[in-house]
Amino acid sequence: MWSLKKPKNDSGAAQVNSDFVLSAIQDGVVMVRRDNIIKMFNQAAGMITGWPAEEAIGLDYRNVLPMIDEKGQAVPENNHPFVRAAASSQSVRDSHAILTTRSGKPLPVSIIVSPVMDNSGQPSGNLVAVFRDVAKEVEEERQRSDFISTASHEMRTPLTAIEGYLSLALNPKTAQVDDNARKLLEKAQMSTTHLGELFRDLLTSSKAEDGRLISYPAVVEIGEILEQVTEASRFHAKEKNLDLQYKISSQQDSSASKAVRPLYYSYVDPNRIREVFQNIVDNAIKYTMEGGVEVRLTGDDHVIQIQVKDSGGGIAEDDIPHLFQKFYRVDNSTTRTVGGTGLGLFICRKIVELYNGRIWVESQLGTGSTFFINLPRLSSTQALDIQKRQSSALSPI
Ligand code: ADP
Repeated sequence: MWSLKKPKNDSGAAQVNSDFVLSAIQDGVVMVRRDNIIKMFNQAAGMITGWPAEEAIGLDYRNVLPMIDEKGQAVPENNHPFVRAAASSQSVRDSHAILTTRSGKPLPVSIIVSPVMDNSGQPSGNLVAVFRDVAKEVEEERQRSDFISTASHEMRTPLTAIEGYLSLALNPKTAQVDDNARKLLEKAQMSTTHLGELFRDLLTSSKAEDGRLISYPAVVEIGEILEQVTEASRFHAKEKNLDLQYKISSQQDSSASKAVRPLYYSYVDPNRIREVFQNIVDNAIKYTMEGGVEVRLTGDDHVIQIQVKDSGGGIAEDDIPHLFQKFYRVDNSTTRTVGGTGLGLFICRKIVELYNGRIWVESQLGTGSTFFINLPRLSSTQALDIQKRQSSALSPI
């Protein structure tokens, strides 16, 4: 039996010119050399940035692809996705980057920058970036967010009236109802409370999304707030027979050779950060059926770390990456019986990021979860300096 022999190097695919391939791609593709010089710039990159490829190639990428932040300030060089990708030797994705076009117009883009590897699998020093114009998506998101914000704000007014009438109906001084009617009214009151929480969370999340979250940062001692939050949850934990512990790492006072409680200062809005801690501790209690919850506070010279550990059902590995997204609720028997909006962790993330912090979770199904929050720490001297500056700015001349 004869088999049809193929000519050497014929893979079956038609030979294609890579320049044609690049110009057919609708996303901007840019390759930058180790010395920051643009080596390749496809047609779409030119359309997006306003730089013709023949002019962009050979220029420093920082002149062609300057990035700004939401306030219009130039992104510091070490925060530019190209620099971050080169420094970490890993792909860096930024879906909310803002590029300044050649004519000086700010343009929202989604960009991913990846290091190009050499034959031995080591970073070659070259970087390739793929980016696209997301102005339309950003505008649509802003309109959606405006709508949610107006609608939830407007709906709170009649809801407040319903809540008021329900409490009057349940108050023996103002209304007489039989036991059956009381049970029904109590159910209506619970649902109204839930609806109120949903509107409040919707309003906060839409504000957080487009940077309208009001924040009055001040020097705050995190230990004090965390302790208050834990104490406020004690009754709730007791109701569920859960053990609630608050632990703070101590440090040795060399002069008195006794353990003293360290002071963890941070520059955050105390009400916003209280909201975050309360949400995490409430969740830990809400999703734990037996055992307990441990709230811990620790840190080093630069970072404050809050840990909330529970002995609940835990979270599956597949769910963890989505947990801090809007409306995400794990679908299991516990969440089906425990009420919630799926907005709490999204709001927590937005608030923590507002103060340049980080929030994440480590969890194992059946064992429990630990939520971590890192916040930048101020030294006592820095805290005092800021407080002095703020009080002198407020004092009358
Ligand atoms: P929700 O209002 O549903 O509690 P969150 O945004 O606060 O919304 O939490 C999102 C989801 O994360 C919850 O629905 C729940 O499935 C899961 N989750 C949050 N905290 C815990 C926890 N401590 N243990 C297990 N699952 C949790």
